Amino acid sequence: MKLNYKTTLLIFTLTFISTLAFAQAKEIKIEFLGNCGLYMTDGQTNIYTDFPYKSGAHGYMEFEESELDSIKENSLFIFTHKHADHYSKKNLKRVMKEKGGQAFGVSNIAELEALGETIADFEIKAFKTDHKVFGISFKHYSYLITWHGKTIYLSGDTTIPATIGRVKNIDMAFIPYWLYANAKDQGITIDAKETGIYHLYPAEIEPAERLFKDKDNQFPLTENGNIIRLNLQKD
Ligand SMILES: [Zn+2]
Repeated sequence: MKLNYKTTLLIFTLTFISTLAFAQAKEIKIEFLGNCGLYMTDGQTNIYTDFPYKSGAHGYMEFEESELDSIKENSLFIFTHKHADHYSKKNLKRVMKEKGGQAFGVSNIAELEALGETIADFEIKAFKTDHKVFGISFKHYSYLITWHGKTIYLSGDTTIPATIGRVKNIDMAFIPYWLYANAKDQGITIDAKETGIYHLYPAEIEPAERLFKDKDNQFPLTENGNIIRLNLQKD
């Protein structure tokens, strides 16, 4: 069969479109933004967790103003709770006014868990977890995300390791140092292939770097811009 120019072009275009439609995500890229702030993407869906917060709140990490400008359009913002080192109403309002998006947290957990119905190959499960400051309980959730078959656990500020201790086969767990220490003290195993220690206080960064220096699958998140890649390609 002799193909004329137009047919060739049509075939080429169709092939190109179907390649796009069936393109599989190659990785989940996770960028550390400070405190419990993470930006995760599979190249299609953009998720921010515990970000934007209030830069420098309670003496915790600061971030550059440009970090807010670089937030992607129509992102999903997921919060473990509403303390200022995790959540800033003002920053979130500003970002969502410019770029749209949807916010989820303690007041709309059912909607958050329903996201799996609209995002392909994505599921999020919320666990009500304990967060007390000076004996006062705050509404707080930890999350287990299953995305393209990878499981990502976000513990937030909770100090009680029992919940994460019940979750099996976590690919990437994000926990603060106090949860790591409490799990150890209580003999609770965190079943995670990799663990990122987040929410370090500036003065804790150096000791954490020393402590985790020789550990392969556990590492502290010490700097805005630290990147973690979860490879989705089967080999
Ligand atoms: Zn906090």
